[in-house]
Amino acid sequence: MPEKKPGKLTMEKLVSLCQRRGFIFPSSDIYGGLSGCWDYGPVGIELKRNVKEAWWRSIVQERDDMVGMDTSILMNSKVWEASGHVTNFKDPLVECKECHLRWKADDLKENKCPSCGGALTEERMFNTMFKTFIGPVEEDAAVVYLRPETAQGMFVNFQNVVSTSRKRIPFGIAQQGRSFRNEITTGNFIFRSREFELMEFEYFVKPGTDAKWFDYWVEERLNWYLKLGIKKENLKPYEHPKEKLAHYARSCTDITYNYPHGWSELEGIANRTDFDLKQHAAASGKSMEYFDDENKEHYIPYIVEPSLGVDRAILAFLCDAYEEEPDKDEIRVVFHFHPDIAPIKVAVLPLSRKENLAAFAKDVYKTLRPCFTTQYDDTQSIGRRYRRQDELGTPYCVTIDFQSLEDNMATIRERDSMKQIRVPVAALKDTLLAKLSGEDLFILPEGGQIWKE
Ligand code: ATP
Repeated sequence: MPEKKPGKLTMEKLVSLCQRRGFIFPSSDIYGGLSGCWDYGPVGIELKRNVKEAWWRSIVQERDDMVGMDTSILMNSKVWEASGHVTNFKDPLVECKECHLRWKADDLKENKCPSCGGALTEERMFNTMFKTFIGPVEEDAAVVYLRPETAQGMFVNFQNVVSTSRKRIPFGIAQQGRSFRNEITTGNFIFRSREFELMEFEYFVKPGTDAKWFDYWVEERLNWYLKLGIKKENLKPYEHPKEKLAHYARSCTDITYNYPHGWSELEGIANRTDFDLKQHAAASGKSMEYFDDENKEHYIPYIVEPSLGVDRAILAFLCDAYEEEPDKDEIRVVFHFHPDIAPIKVAVLPLSRKENLAAFAKDVYKTLRPCFTTQYDDTQSIGRRYRRQDELGTPYCVTIDFQSLEDNMATIRERDSMKQIRVPVAALKDTLLAKLSGEDLFILPEGGQIWKE
């Protein structure tokens, strides 16, 4: 038999593993799917919640200068007229004259159809906002858009937040939520979808201090990924050349990630100046000025906006954590997720389904479940169960064997090192909590012992 060798991650492998293990499925799968839409399965939703939670904690809850919001997806259409989206949120579309596939002109390297090589039509601009109607009559006056970004909900609430939150500039408003873009071409799994989630914040600063805050946030955002275990060599900031900036931006830096399909934008950080607040002030007739009571001056603040797609973050965390390792004659596939984002923190594995052992293991499971996302698994051999938990990225497995019934101890197996310790059941919860916070496996609780080095 040829020797098995660990391979590199490809998008095909990732898509298939995500489907097999319940991370992510194509939307409407039994009807052949819907292009650009994905469903998060039982494991994927835990990963997604953890990524969103890690962001919310670091951006909103651990800071004094930030508040959160949750604004509606449907907004008055005047918002999108004032913001420039109705006029400018467009992509250049070309169509193949032979096979009629449509492409975003910006993505094409040559002036022919990437699928069949056919000639292409002239470019025409295509607005990528989804349109629908509010109320029963489908008329122009009833047109509303599904938001393509969450930012506008925060701009139009600027004065509401200032007058109710007691925050003084500099401060930010943060939001997470669904966004929709009728992308001409989707692809690379969850990298580019038509329905996705954003986590973004608007950081309001005094004009003149915007460049300093912009640099601060590029640095902070890079550090967030590093803290959650993303490898430094897979992250690279990319500064947009001035002539290619969006209509509202003074500067823009993307945090790019080395995805299997190449370096691409993970997060965009833009200095949006006072463009948005000025536009909304002019269109609504409402003042967007801020009164600085320390210096007794009025001004319209500048805005620095870091904007991150939840799904692109998840894709980066999945790719970064994936590894194939040689393991005797086999290949071990493992997601080395940081414990904060791992979908399942602990798996309880009874060595057998025998009644007395199962009852003991279920008790252990019940004591751990209120503290961390815990899974109980009593199917197949213990080796196979370890492999399954490795593929789910579970940092610790707790094994209950027949000796546990006598000595009231259980084995903890660490995902990354595959080393094991044995600790009293009474110390399990605290030991796991410490390990999940980064403590070395071989720091033992009282009565604990090293089991397998
Ligand atoms: P791209 O150039 O890739 O289309 P963009 O520059 O239009 O992205 P922004 O408008 O800056 O993207 O959106 C902010 C963030 O939203 C991006 O950094 C990305 O993480 C995410 N994002 C944008 N479009 C999509 C999409 N279609 N699917 C998933 N995530 C997206």
